[in-house]
Amino acid sequence: MTEKSNIRLVGGGISHESFTFVPEYMPKRPGIQQYGQEALDSNRGTRTNLGAMIEVCEREGVELIPTVYGSPASKGRCLDESYYSMLNTIIEGIEKAMPIDGVLLLMHGGGATETEDDLEGHVVEQVRKVVGDKIPIVSPFDMHANIGPKTMKYGTFYCGYDRYPHFDSYERSAEVTELLIETLRGKIDPKIAYAQPNMIITPVMQKSEYYPMKAVIAKVHEIEAEPGILSATCAAGYPYADVPYPGVTTMVIADGNKKLAQEKANELSQFIWDMRLDFLARVVPVDRAIDMALAEPEGPVVLADQADNPGGGAGAQDGTVALKAMLDRGVTNACVLGMRDAEAVAKAIEVGVGSTVTMKIGGKLRPWVGDPLEVTGYVKCISDGKYRPSRGAAWWASRDRLNKTVVLNVKGIDIIITELGCGTTDLALYRSLGLDPTSYKMLLVKSCVHYRRAHDPIAKKTIELDTPGWHGTRLAAFPWKKLKRPVFPLDVEAIGISELKTE
Ligand SMILES: [Zn+2]
Repeated sequence: MTEKSNIRLVGGGISHESFTFVPEYMPKRPGIQQYGQEALDSNRGTRTNLGAMIEVCEREGVELIPTVYGSPASKGRCLDESYYSMLNTIIEGIEKAMPIDGVLLLMHGGGATETEDDLEGHVVEQVRKVVGDKIPIVSPFDMHANIGPKTMKYGTFYCGYDRYPHFDSYERSAEVTELLIETLRGKIDPKIAYAQPNMIITPVMQKSEYYPMKAVIAKVHEIEAEPGILSATCAAGYPYADVPYPGVTTMVIADGNKKLAQEKANELSQFIWDMRLDFLARVVPVDRAIDMALAEPEGPVVLADQADNPGGGAGAQDGTVALKAMLDRGVTNACVLGMRDAEAVAKAIEVGVGSTVTMKIGGKLRPWVGDPLEVTGYVKCISDGKYRPSRGAAWWASRDRLNKTVVLNVKGIDIIITELGCGTTDLALYRSLGLDPTSYKMLLVKSCVHYRRAHDPIAKKTIELDTPGWHGTRLAAFPWKKLKRPVFPLDVEAIGISELKTE
């Protein structure tokens, strides 16, 4: 694709992963938005999704007219006022730019507002009303997208990430942009079809570099290599959203052949359904995990507190269950990344580096993840939380804003305590605090999957913990009301697997 054209696209994005349970416990999160030309200028040349879209459009001589990109303010579900202000900006931008050739959206999938369960479906429905039946509306989707009926009905096609950690967000955004331009040049005629096995999958089992998700992604690539197929996706879904459709969705785009697309979407859906038992989490009780870690001849052994993940819209990252067990067992030469506790950070700064302090840490923001833990520790380091990301670190590592950060050493365990939650995708974070992550026997990392990008290369062993928490594996404990039932695995012990057969 090198020919010039006068193709005009309107671009805009509303990305959110909305944790719909117990909103009263969610701190209200501010929205982050970039408008118009500023959005293009600050993303041009970067490895962001929008950076990919800009790169492809500029290479192909296609005009991309920006509206707004970002995420609405949220208290779990997106606040309507913030959502509608973004949506209206997109709609007005389209109306002003008409006539246009296509709409290039940038959505995460898995969003919900105060009044809409299917945020993306609502966006494409409203955009469709403005542009009419003929103009293509496309978007990339995160692997954690939940795809609702309106999303399928009103959008033209989507390309979802194949990898978690999301190494391929740039490539998938480039792919959807390229397919849109080829469509507008009359080179392809994309027909998309969907299928949904009645399944939800806990994120800890969605790791694309490991079985069973690895096998599913291999199957996705096998289908993509077949004649007539333009793209295939298996969205593993975001399970912490109580919406009327289950998270796992397969999507296949075939060239001019809807029937083929449907056959392949069904085949992929059946493939993942047949593997359903393999998607049940194999997490390890904390005490057993400590035994296993102590038995390893060399460290670091990573204990992944997947339920206290700071991302995923859910986690406060202030759980104390695993840390308490380590202290009770007398574990030493360990490091905790990290504990979110602004009060404790302030207290440590007040007493100063080199002083000893007794205080309660963690367990303050939300129930279920352990009580505040009284510790006496030595303030080893105080930092402004800024660090220079490593080369090749996840692009969002540089956005991790820890704010004030301290290291408190409690009986041989270095606990990194931050004002805000901290990402776990870059070892530079430890080093900025004077800590060497490879020197410890155990690293307790509060993260579900994204930590693997930085930690897998140094870990002698990694153990995923069976801890309680808002981003954890205990899906049946959530107060489901809307989710279409029966669904695997929530109902399997009530009605049996054969009655849960996928459609
Ligand atoms: Zn994701």
